[in-house]
Formats: sequence, structure tokens, C-alpha cells
Amino acid sequence: MPETTVHYQDYSELKRLIKESGRDYDTQLIEAAYQLAEEAHGDQRRVSGVPYILHPTSVACILVQLGMDTESVVAALLHDVVEDTDITLDEITKKFGSEIAHLVDGVTKLKKIPYSSREVQQAENIRKMLIAMSDDIRVIIIKLADRLHNMRTIECMKEQKRRDKALENMEVYAPIAHRLGIRTVKEEMEDLSLRYLDPVGYKEIEDALSLTRNDREKFIEKIKAEITAKAEKFVKSLYIEGRVKSINGIYRKTFMKGKSLEQIYDIFAVRVIVESLSDCYNVLGIVHDIYTPLPNRFKDYISTPKPNMYQSLHTTVIGKEGIPFEIQIRTWEMHYTAEYGIAAHWKYKLGISKKDNMDQKTQWIRKMLENQSDDETDIISNIKTDLASEEVFIFTPRGDVLNLPMGSTVIDVAYAIHSEVGNRMIGAKVDNKIMPIDHQVRTGEIIEILTSKETAGPKRDWLNKVKSSEARSKIKSWFKKECREENIERGKAETDKVFKHNGIILSDAEREDFLSELMKKSFTTVDDFYASIGYGGILMWKLIPRMKELYNKKYKIQEKADELLSVEIRKPSSKSSSGVIVEGVDDMLINLARCCNPIRGDEIIGYITRGSGVSVHKRSCKNVICNIDNPENAERWVKAHWSCEALKSESYQTTIEITATDRTGLIADLSNALSSMHIYINSFSSSESKNGIASIRFTITVGSMDHLKVIFSRILNVYGVQSVERI
Ligand code: MN
Repeated sequence: MPETTVHYQDYSELKRLIKESGRDYDTQLIEAAYQLAEEAHGDQRRVSGVPYILHPTSVACILVQLGMDTESVVAALLHDVVEDTDITLDEITKKFGSEIAHLVDGVTKLKKIPYSSREVQQAENIRKMLIAMSDDIRVIIIKLADRLHNMRTIECMKEQKRRDKALENMEVYAPIAHRLGIRTVKEEMEDLSLRYLDPVGYKEIEDALSLTRNDREKFIEKIKAEITAKAEKFVKSLYIEGRVKSINGIYRKTFMKGKSLEQIYDIFAVRVIVESLSDCYNVLGIVHDIYTPLPNRFKDYISTPKPNMYQSLHTTVIGKEGIPFEIQIRTWEMHYTAEYGIAAHWKYKLGISKKDNMDQKTQWIRKMLENQSDDETDIISNIKTDLASEEVFIFTPRGDVLNLPMGSTVIDVAYAIHSEVGNRMIGAKVDNKIMPIDHQVRTGEIIEILTSKETAGPKRDWLNKVKSSEARSKIKSWFKKECREENIERGKAETDKVFKHNGIILSDAEREDFLSELMKKSFTTVDDFYASIGYGGILMWKLIPRMKELYNKKYKIQEKADELLSVEIRKPSSKSSSGVIVEGVDDMLINLARCCNPIRGDEIIGYITRGSGVSVHKRSCKNVICNIDNPENAERWVKAHWSCEALKSESYQTTIEITATDRTGLIADLSNALSSMHIYINSFSSSESKNGIASIRFTITVGSMDHLKVIFSRILNVYGVQSVERI
């Protein structure tokens, strides 16, 4: 109960608690940790003015009281030194070993998780994230003790800060304590938080309870005597205590369920603790013999434990004065689990010991976390978080948490935020550093997506870089919608090429008929077919065998067919589509990098990406200059050059920016200049002119560098044009 809480505990108190615990602590190691922490924190003070060292010492005390092991206690003493003092993690590893360093590091990392309570969903995600980030469950328990102690000493903070922390405890930390079955921490944390969230309601219950305290104590004494007198003959040793429900528990029943204090049966409960399982049921019989049980209030949590491992028999009976009260019957072992939950497993070594059965331990925790379907809190019911983790949790710069499948990239993040964010993405910052968009995100990273309205939209190869089906379908639908014309064109060109390559010669009418039969009429028009080839909905090379078979059947005479069937079936070669030859790489997908848009004639270099072929950059591209010297990726860079055919033929898209004195008719003159050279304009944009200078961008289709030079000289001849350059 908060009123009896000791706010700060010092080192002598810690030593006393360790001694009292009767457990086998490594006191020398704890002493060394205390010395280090005390020296490191030096004359740092808490906001209240007390020496800082008292905070970690108090946290260590809480952990001893919970029965946690030496490593946890040492880590608690050191939990703030890495963040707040000059001591490094390396020093801790050297002095205390990697296990303790790992715990300290874990707690330090959890501090970075921002909290915003905009949505209920967020609280749940934060809980999941905390659990996912704590690969050792002791990290969470140390964190809970840290939060609890901060809450005990929050009095001197500003009102707003107290409320924020209280809310965060209610929504995030107390539910975690509940899930881990640590009742002592959960209830104290909730009561302390409630005191700041609803001071009036809290006081009301507190007052009501203190008014009736005397009566209650007398009542419990009487019950104790009655049960003891009857049970002594049958039960070897029993311990009986009376307890009042937590203030938050009563608060929830009175204010939220609209019941009065008198209507709550279990404001106080009598707890009977016995030696053996069979005694539990013996005592139950005796209790039902003395008092009248209320119907439907008996619960056997021994045969079906709560998901957080809680076990007890519960029954509500009516006392001789007509007052109903709850009786809980359990063994000592059940009692420790009820009070300390998962922590009891360190305290009493119930099946969890050291690293060798870490797996067993995590499995047990995982099972517990997964099976949660507690009636009183559905909050946690749908947590599926695997400690081994198939999900990652990342932050947006606003502090929202997103969860994504393991292996997701920055592109997945962008589409998870909004499809428009994905479609306009031009790059990303991960923890404030620019990273490639195929960077695989990790739990805890802060991901900022950089967008621009100027971008031409997602790239086709993003489909190979995303992990989530959400991102994949959003990218596909973009290509489907935004570029129908382009897709049709692309699809038709590809179909032409494949037809030609395979000797399929058809008139337009025959073609429609042929394709509709090929696709078993799954398209209404031929354009639909072309469009889906164009955006990658259908993979052409997969159709080729069927296509040839059908063509031979329908249009071909036999002798020619044999010859055709011998034509090798393969994916369209990467060389022909991009015009680039990458040295030493034969059968790999080749993409022209979006960042620098190399065009024929440029000096180029290839980079073997993870999982999406070779990305070809201009030799002068910023990304090349910045990364080529990185020894980690040294073997990924490969020589590349344009194929002879490419240099001679085919066309290519590029964007040029023209700076010109603004005037009426300028744009018309520019587009006339381009179209008079039969240049295809793919798109065009102009920004508002500043000081009479206009800047206009055309994305055009050109043949080669030489072709572009001709175009440039032609544009420079347009009246008012000052400069033109390729972007
Ligand atoms: Mn702390």
C-alpha cells in the first residue's frame, strides 16, 4: 500500500534485505557494483535533491524483495550508469561479465522507447515492443522495478509529468506486470498511478477504507478464529491472513461498474495458506461447512490455473453477520507464484535455472504470453509476440509504433504508413542516417520516410524488396492504376518482342482471338492483357511454353512446328531489356538505378543488391562515390558497360531541367522544339517562376548521350532559355 511505502532505500537496507532473504547472493559482486555505481553517479541528484545512487539502490532492493538473482540485482545497481555517467558497457562487461552487461544494455535500450497515448492500439504495440526487445525476461523485470521506484518518488515532479507517467504505467507497465503474474508490482504501480490520475476518487476509497478499518480487522480476527478452530483437527498447519483489495481494484468495481462499496464482495478477502494440495480442498469443505457459499462464486484455479500461472481456490461465502467475503485457499508454492509470478521462478528455482535451459524458459514464457485470455483484462489477449520474434516493431518520427513482418524493408514501412507515402518515397532515414530503401528494419529503429511530389512513383523492382503483402499489393495497384497507358504500351512491346522471338506471326484480329484463348478469357480486352503484362501482374516468360503450344496447334503446319519447339525457352535476357552488360554476371536481373538514371553512353558501374539483381549506377552517382570504398561491400561492385546494340539503338527515358526567362508561350515553344525532333515527352512539370526565372522539367525518351547533346543544343536555341541539364 502506498502509504507504507519506503521511498528510498540505502545500501545498508539492501544488505539487510539480502541477509533476510536467506538466499545465496554473491555479495562481493553486489558490493563491487554498488561501489562502481556510487562513484560513477558521484554527486548527481534526483529532482527531489536526494543523492542519485539511492534510486538504483532502491531498485535493487525491490528486486531482492521479488527474489530475483544476483545478476538482476547487480544490473539494477548499474542500470543508469551507461546512460547517465562516463562508464561504458565495455567496462561493465570487463568487470561483471557479459550476462550482466547484456541486462544493463537491455534496460538502457528500453529507455529509448517513446510513449504517446494517442491510441489504445499504441499502448498495446508498446507493450509488444518492450517484450520483443527484452530477449531476457529479467530485463523487463528490472525495468518494472525501475518504473515502480520512479512512481514511488514522483511526488516532486510537475503535475503533467506525474499524470503522463501514471497513464503510461496504467496502460503499458502494469499490464505487463500482470501478465508476468507479479501481483505485488502490478497492484502497487496501479494504486500509485491512480492516485495521480484521479486524486478525488482515490481519496474517497482510501477514506472509506480507513473508516472501516477497525471493524474490518475485528471481523477478520473473528473469521480466523472460526476457521482455525474447525480446521485444526484436519489440517496440519495453516496460515490465515485478511487482505483488502487494492484501491485500484475497488475503484474499477465502484466507479466503472457502478457498484457501491457494500456491493463489492471481495473488498476484503481471507486467505488461507496450507502445506499441501489436498489440504486446499479439505479447507474448502470446512469453510463451506461453517458459512453459506454464494452460488456461482466458486472458482477452481488449481485445476485450471490462470494464464499467468495463478493458482488458488476462490469461494465467496456469507459470514454470520450476513456480510459476504471471499476466501482464497492455496499452498505456499501457489502463494509465491501469485505474489511474484514469473519472479518466483528465480526465487524458488521452480524449473528455471541457468542458461542451459534458457530455451525451456523462453518457451514457458512464450506459452504464458500467448495463452493469455484473462477475463478481467482482455488487453493482452491478442498478443502473439514470439520472443524469438516473427515481427519487428519500429517507430515513426512521431513516436507511433508499427509492427511489420520480420525481414521488412523501409519500403514496407512507407506503405504501412500510407500508400501515398509509399508512392512518393524518395529515400529514408533510419535513426537519423540516410539508408538505402531496401534496408531491412530492426526492432527499435526510428524510420523517417522522405517523400517528394516530384517522384515518378514506385519502382517495379520494389516488388522484390518488400516483405509485407500490404506493400506488395499497394505497389501493384499503383502500377495498375497510375500507368495504364504506359503499361499497355510496355505490355504490347513485350508481347511483340516475344512473338517475334518465337516466330509467332498474327494479324491484329488473330492476335485478339489468340490471346483471349491463351488467357482462357480472363480479360475483357486485349489492352487489359497488355496492361497486366506491363505492371507485372502476369509474367510473360511463364506464358511462353503455353503460347507456343497453342500457336502451333492453331496456326502452324507440322514441319515448322518441330523446328520452333526446339527454340530455347528462357526469360527475356537482361541484356536486351536494359542494354547493359555486367561483367561476370550472366543470368541476373539488371536494373538501372533510380537515383542517377544512367542513360546509354554514361560511364556506369554495377552493384549486386541483396535479392534483386544488379543495380546499374552512373560512375559519378553520389551513392557510388559514397559507398564504393566501403570494404564490407567491396565484392558487390562489378564492372558494367553498354552493349553495342544499346549504344546504337533503342530509346531511353531521362529527365531534363530547363532554366529560362519566363514569358508567355515559353512552354509551348519548348514542347514544339522537342516534338519537331520527334522526341516523345513522357511527362512535364514546371515550378512557379521566381524573379522571372522559370524552371521546367521534361521527362523524355531519348536514344543515347549523343542524341541528348543534339536535343540540348536545340533547346538552348529557344528564346529565353539560359541553361539545360539532365537530372
Ligand atoms: Mn532508473
